[in-house]
Amino acid sequence: MSNGRMKVLIIGGGFGGLFCARRLGRVDVDVTLLDRAAGHLFQPLLYQCATGTLSIGHISRPLREEFARHRNVRTLLGEAVELDPGARTVTARRPDETTFTLDYDVLVIAAGMQQSYFNNAQFAAWAPGMKTLDDALSIRQRLFTAFEIAETLPPGRDRDAWLTFVVAGGGPTGVELAGQIREMATRTLANEFHSIEPEEARVLLCDGGDRVLKSFAPDLAEKATRTLQKLGVEMRMGVHVTDVRRDGVTVTPKAGGPDEVHAARTVLWTAGVEAVPFARHIAEVLGAKSDRSGRIEVDPDLSVPGHPEVFVVGDLVGRDKLPGVAENAMQGGLHVAACIRRELEGKPRRPYRYRDLGSAAYISRGNALLQVGPVRVAGFVGWLAWGFIHIAFLTGVRNRVSTVATWLATIARASRYHRAFMLGSDSMPEQRYTWSAWDAPTPPPEVQPGPGAGSPDHTPR
Ligand SMILES: Cc1cc2nc3c(=O)[nH]c(=O)nc-3n(C[C@H](O)[C@H](O)[C@H](O)COP(=O)(O)OP(=O)(O)OC[C@H]3O[C@@H](n4cnc5c(N)ncnc54)[C@H](O)[C@@H]3O)c2cc1C
Repeated sequence: MSNGRMKVLIIGGGFGGLFCARRLGRVDVDVTLLDRAAGHLFQPLLYQCATGTLSIGHISRPLREEFARHRNVRTLLGEAVELDPGARTVTARRPDETTFTLDYDVLVIAAGMQQSYFNNAQFAAWAPGMKTLDDALSIRQRLFTAFEIAETLPPGRDRDAWLTFVVAGGGPTGVELAGQIREMATRTLANEFHSIEPEEARVLLCDGGDRVLKSFAPDLAEKATRTLQKLGVEMRMGVHVTDVRRDGVTVTPKAGGPDEVHAARTVLWTAGVEAVPFARHIAEVLGAKSDRSGRIEVDPDLSVPGHPEVFVVGDLVGRDKLPGVAENAMQGGLHVAACIRRELEGKPRRPYRYRDLGSAAYISRGNALLQVGPVRVAGFVGWLAWGFIHIAFLTGVRNRVSTVATWLATIARASRYHRAFMLGSDSMPEQRYTWSAWDAPTPPPEVQPGPGAGSPDHTPR
């Protein structure tokens, strides 16, 4: 502690980190919130951004703006790359690849999960996941470009491949994306092309299970399946996508039988998640146990065993099979803030108790599922409830108002007002600011390691 005030360092400004920092904004501590993105992202509406209904501004809010009125909370842009538990420091990387060091008395890890390709990282080149704003914009670019390219091709296999979309993963995100692509093709784009019929676009939804939406009750999942089929989504259940290439996918039936090869120029991956690299590094240096996906085992108060000064919240928590949902992250963030406040008051910490407030999934226009304990709602009522919940939790009043206005406009007319996309270029100077150089086998030479940064080999990527 310096100046008598406890220093709390929060890694990640997603739901867990945001709620923790907000609550600590009213506590006598100094808070640093570090995120590799400059804004809080409302992941549940990412697919609407990817498919052109909402803009990136609707679903994200600058962390700096969010905490402008909290004098004891500072927000920093940087990617945490190394923890030194002895010195109680975290080394972070700036977007220009240089590093800086932050110290802490209490560390809160709220860095979330990333897409998992199940040891097939090469699939990512052809099949973007959906976890970040970059992912959403990349998907938007691929979807709309596919129709544009098809328009310029003569009828035939090549054109059909551009009009075939494969979505891997039948969870809520896969279902939402698959439904939206068909809606886009049949409503928004239907009358805009001359050479192709966008309605003929095929959307294949692939999943290893025997049904979509396994986290929902079977009767709700059944209703969702019927709605998707009515929309024209082709359901391929009981299969694994075993190869993704530039020009298509190979699908292997789980029950045996011959592989299927589908020519498709757009493949989207929502099939699994794993801990972000920094979380794996944390587990290693703290000697903490983690599960196969990298979720960190924690004590009942959400602290890492043997390290009461380090907490884990949100999707990264490996305890009691807590679900990877926003509500768990928000409650976890508030719980950790309460632990810190109680400690300052000389009171003992309480164990974390998660209250399940239910889940919702969008299926199509006017149709969503809501499941709260024994209450199960589908169809239009589910859709209204879904809309209300999402607006309630969207960050920022301006975002809420403009999202509702955009939804109403989209319902009234089939248009998607935010379908603009960029084609990108290797020579775009801003591409430097993507941390992408660190994905390459050889790290760039100009890095100046901060105290405790160690060699670039330590970089948990
Ligand atoms: C497409 C999609 C749809 C979803 N829909 C729903 C839904 O409808 N309902 C629901 O309840 N849940 C939904 N979820 C799940 C929900 O969004 C997550 O459970 C929730 O975001 C987890 O919160 P978190 O704080 O643990 O992590 P996140 O919200 O993922 O935040 C993690 C933050 O950490 C940052 N970060 C990562 N690594 C580093 C690092 N090394 N250094 C600095 N910062 C770092 C990231 O930039 C990010 O801002 C959805 C998720 C996705 C991807």
